[in-house]
This record gives sequence, C-alpha cells and structure tokens, in this order.
Amino acid sequence: MFINTIMGWFSNDMAIDLGTANTLVYVKGRGIVCNEPSVVAKSVKSGKVLAVGTDAKKMLGRTPGDVQTIRPIKDGVISDFDATGEMLRYFIQRVHNRKSFMRPRIVIGVPTGITQVEQRAVKDAALSSGGREVYLIEEPVAAAIGTGLPISEPSGNMIVDIGGGTTDIAVISMDGVVYSKAIRVGGDKMDEAVINYIKRKYNLLIGEMMAEQIKIELGSAYKTGTDRQTMEIKGRDLVSGIPKTLILDDDEVRESLAEPVSQILNAIKLALENTPPELSADIVDKGIVLAGGGALLKGMDIFLREETSLPIIIAEEPLMCVALGAGRVLDDIDVLKKVMM
Ligand code: ADP
Ligand code: MG
Repeated sequence: MFINTIMGWFSNDMAIDLGTANTLVYVKGRGIVCNEPSVVAKSVKSGKVLAVGTDAKKMLGRTPGDVQTIRPIKDGVISDFDATGEMLRYFIQRVHNRKSFMRPRIVIGVPTGITQVEQRAVKDAALSSGGREVYLIEEPVAAAIGTGLPISEPSGNMIVDIGGGTTDIAVISMDGVVYSKAIRVGGDKMDEAVINYIKRKYNLLIGEMMAEQIKIELGSAYKTGTDRQTMEIKGRDLVSGIPKTLILDDDEVRESLAEPVSQILNAIKLALENTPPELSADIVDKGIVLAGGGALLKGMDIFLREETSLPIIIAEEPLMCVALGAGRVLDDIDVLKKVMM
C-alpha cells in the first residue's frame, strides 16, 4: 500500500478513452484530468499540427484555405494515422509532465472494430509518447466496467454505447465480448439529419456546431412533455445567400432525428436476435445499459423501452464511463490481463 502510494507520486499511469468525438484521460489517483474533442488542426502545406482538442474544434468550419481540421477516427476506424498519433501524443504529454520520471503504464480504450494495423498504430503512438507499457481494451468492455456491471460473472450484460461516429453494441459475459456490432450511426449522423431536415424544409444551411447544439437542447427520441419548446437558429438562406434566423420547435427536431434513432433501434434488435438464448434471458431480467453521449438524447431510454419492452438503464456517467472503466482496470492487473485485446 505504502509502496504503491510512493510509486503513485512518481508515475502517472493513465487510461485513455480514444473516442470518435471526445478523448478523455484518467490518471490514477487524480481522476479524469483531460476531456477534449478528438480534433486535430493541420497546415495543408507543411502538414504541421497547429492545434489539438478544444482549440482545434473551435476552428471546425472556420478555417482559411491552408488549415484543415480533421477528426482522425470519425467513423470508428482510424482514417488518419498521423493525426491520431499526434493527438494521442499531445494528450499523453500534457498529462505526463517531466516532474514524474517513471514512465506511465497506459490503458487505451479503442473501438471494437479496429484492425491489427490500427491497433499497432495506436500502441506505437502511445509508446513513442513515453508510455512504458501500453494495453488496449475494447470500449464496450471498459464502458461496462465503468458502469459497474458484473462482467466477470457467467451472465449476459448488454451495453449500447452511442458515441459520435458509431454506436457500439456488445454482449459481455465472463470478461469477454460474446457478441459485438458497431454501426456508423451516432451523434454525428443525428447532427447531419438535423442539417438536412432544415435544408429541405427551410432552405437554410446551418453548420455542424449549430446542429449539435439544436440536438442537445431541443432534440429528443420520444415525445414526453406537452409544452412546445422552441429555439432560435441561425444559418444561411440557400436562395438569397443571406444569413437568416428562424424558430424551430421540438417536434421538428424529433422528426429529423427519427431515422438515425430507428437505425440504432434496429441494430439493437439484431443484436438481441443474435445473442445466445441463455444470455438473452439474462438481458430480459437486467435490461440494456446505455452509454456514450447519445444516451443523453432526451427520451432515448423511453423510446427503446417502448420498442423492445426491456428495462433500459442509462449509465451513471455516459460520457465518462469508458475512461472510468479503463481507469479501474489500471488498478487491477488481474482484471487487465483478462480484458485486454
Ligand atoms: P465518442 O465516444 O465517440 O467520442 P461520446 O460518447 O463522447 O462519443 O459522445 C459524443 C456524442 O454525444 C456527440 O455526437 C454529442 O453531440 C453527443 N451528445 C453529448 N451530449 C448530448 C446530449 N445531451 N444529448 C444528445 N447528444 C449528446
Ligand atoms: Mg466512446
């Protein structure tokens, strides 16, 4: 115990949730120390990285010709290895300051579908950023641990992690993934659906950031209240080309989100059909746990409960449970050995 405390002073063992939308870093003994968008801004000419994280996200859609903003893992696959490496290095080095001379052990949560080559790239980037040992863990497993599900027991747990680029559905039992499926529908597709709806209905073009704000403030998957809620939105009129504002209401946003929301439902239904019967029976009792930012879409839980007749539980910290779960694994080498990829 005492030795561990002393070791803790010198080492910054860390867990990283390398999400399609957000990257979180958890440091042993300190909790989540970094939570920023997974965005990199680069110079097109020199390839030099100009900004990472929050600073880079502010530039999205606002860059001059030479600056390019990249979401290196947008669809759950690593589309830009260099940018992913740069981003990982930036986050690790921000946390791993020179004061600590022990090189950190790092656990990284990655999408279930990533290839061997992608796994290697993530590991190499973490090692070259000062990692002593690097372990990869599948995000749904980390999310389940972070939510406190009893995944070591011989009993089925279904977790649905609705992230930015993907929704990951996994059935976990005895520390392993029994079934997993990722679809490229998540928060980003919801934002796109809002953009397209407003374009079609009002001939108004809005940006991604505006769309995300509309989704979060006004969006829902299921109608609950009776009061009409509205919001003033700004965009560019596609006919006149002039900036314009208009009032949007919650019914319209729900209608616009219906398609991506039903695609998520269909993937869940498919997962239920493909789950071995014993484990299905467990899920009927225990229900489905929702994680990821999309779990926070208003009425998502009610909608899924209505459609599946199963209990739906929203994880306590949907945006943080992968980082927290990966962090818990850091503390327990036995668990780590069982769950690492
Ligand atoms: P990832 O793990 O892929 O990085 P996250 O779990 O961090 O993704 O979730 C990010 C997504 O969740 C974004 O699309 C964001 O817009 C969405 N999101 C965050 N908060 C809410 C909310 N309150 N309602 C609906 N969507 C939300
Ligand atoms: Mg995630």
